[in-house]
Amino acid sequence: MSQARPDGPQLTPAELAVLGDVHKDLFLGGRWTKASNGATLSVEDPAIGVVIAEVADATAADGTRALDAAVAAQVDWARTPPRERGEILRRAYEVMVDKADQLALLMTLEMGKPLSESRSEALYAAEFFRWFSEEAVRIAGTWATAPDGQTRLWTMKQPVGPCLFITPWNFPLAMGTRKIGPAVAAGCTMIVKPAAQTPLSMLALAQILADAGLPEGVLSVLPTSSPQQLTAPLIADPRLRKLSFTGSTAVGKKLVEQSAHQLLRVSVELGGNAPFIVFDDADLDHAVDEAMKAKLRNNGEACTAANRFYVHEAVARPFADRLAERFRALVVGRGVDESVMLGPLIDRAAVSKVAGLVDRAIQDGASVVTGGTRDDGVGYFYPPTVLADVPSHSIILREEIFGPVAPIATFATEEDVLAEVNSSEYGLASYVFTRSLDRALRVCERLDVGMVGLNRGVLSNAAAPFGGVKASGFGREGGREGIEEYLDTKYVSVNVS
Ligand code: NAP
Repeated sequence: MSQARPDGPQLTPAELAVLGDVHKDLFLGGRWTKASNGATLSVEDPAIGVVIAEVADATAADGTRALDAAVAAQVDWARTPPRERGEILRRAYEVMVDKADQLALLMTLEMGKPLSESRSEALYAAEFFRWFSEEAVRIAGTWATAPDGQTRLWTMKQPVGPCLFITPWNFPLAMGTRKIGPAVAAGCTMIVKPAAQTPLSMLALAQILADAGLPEGVLSVLPTSSPQQLTAPLIADPRLRKLSFTGSTAVGKKLVEQSAHQLLRVSVELGGNAPFIVFDDADLDHAVDEAMKAKLRNNGEACTAANRFYVHEAVARPFADRLAERFRALVVGRGVDESVMLGPLIDRAAVSKVAGLVDRAIQDGASVVTGGTRDDGVGYFYPPTVLADVPSHSIILREEIFGPVAPIATFATEEDVLAEVNSSEYGLASYVFTRSLDRALRVCERLDVGMVGLNRGVLSNAAAPFGGVKASGFGREGGREGIEEYLDTKYVSVNVS
């Protein structure tokens, strides 16, 4: 069992200062409030397995109070001029950029990724506020003459109303801002339930938004150790109009079922099983560079992470060897150290899951090129691992690994690899490496996914529509499409005599 040692030797004065700056209460309707039963939940640093903070643990009653506040604020908020809503986002964006180092340290402390990556996430998260500050003033309707020439067809876009957002631990800030940004821009009020393991970043963001002028009631942030008890009554409440969830496919399916009773507008951004396809005409060194990002960004704990590598049989061995060489050179450790390139996984269960998948792949006939041995020391680490000759039936090619493991399978023809990758139940991200334009166009069109990285290992961009198909969910976040998730279209039939 981990123990609360917030002033123990593991935490530096800088770390204690950044933890001390965050409000640990609920941000309920715009005010900092204790949980109704006074309970708290513990937040751990996964690199050392030590509790670093206690935050208020919201109850169902707190959830109802937050929805009361959201409903009370909705009408005035929807009427607030779009420019004012946009400027709140713009101010919050500026503060996030100014405070990127503090936000990064906080994120690394609660989630484990290296500081440089947390800094990138803070800036990426802020980009959603900048992008949607610009979209707030571009919400438009249409005016048309009906085919009969008599009637006029007028459409307008209106905010859907109070929203519930449920976010995962792997990107503690960005998974929130890509929902909060468009909702603020559209004029919706909202309740955010961050992951229990990483609530601190979202609580810090609540204060930034309050300081930027977000009116009371528009946002609540409610960490809880009882997600179902908090969110089920909200989803069943007819006053809620929209649910946006990012997380696992299993939980997403349950929430979609619950949402059916009130016919909520729903967006679900779920799990992935991204293929990383390298054809024999690819620039192999470039493919290895991009594989490092696609596989290891966020400690391998990203829904877009390259989960299964399909490398043409003619280049599979050199690809595996070069990737393994880069993996061996990684500095693994506590992310707060600037030299660290790969941090811990989120918890011990995650390490066990990754280790189990690797062990089963080896039993299936895969060979270990590097790594492959579990580390049971302090913190929740798993070594960067490359597996070659992974047979196509191996479970590691079907399940989300969520760790620094690259399983490599080979293929002979374009048809074979397309059939293999499209047989997955998931359809979020994919990566394709080839120098042939014809092949690139063919393969991009035929992949059953929401996103393709063409000779690129990173997809995330606030200006692009992020999302998946099949068991990876539905709805899009970011880009022009992102705000549509928060708008209803109203049509007025106008009589012109
Ligand atoms: P998770 O277990 O599904 O949890 C996600 C969120 O749902 C957390 O806030 C969790 O709360 C909450 N939750 C869990 N059970 C719930 C219930 N019965 N009712 C209401 N809320 C519930 O997923 P995770 O392990 O945190 O995140 C990893 C998953 O997210 C991966 O599958 C990854 O691919 C996916 N993901 C997808 C995207 C995308 O855009 N497609 C982006 C990032 C991550 P607790 O924290 O209390 O468990």
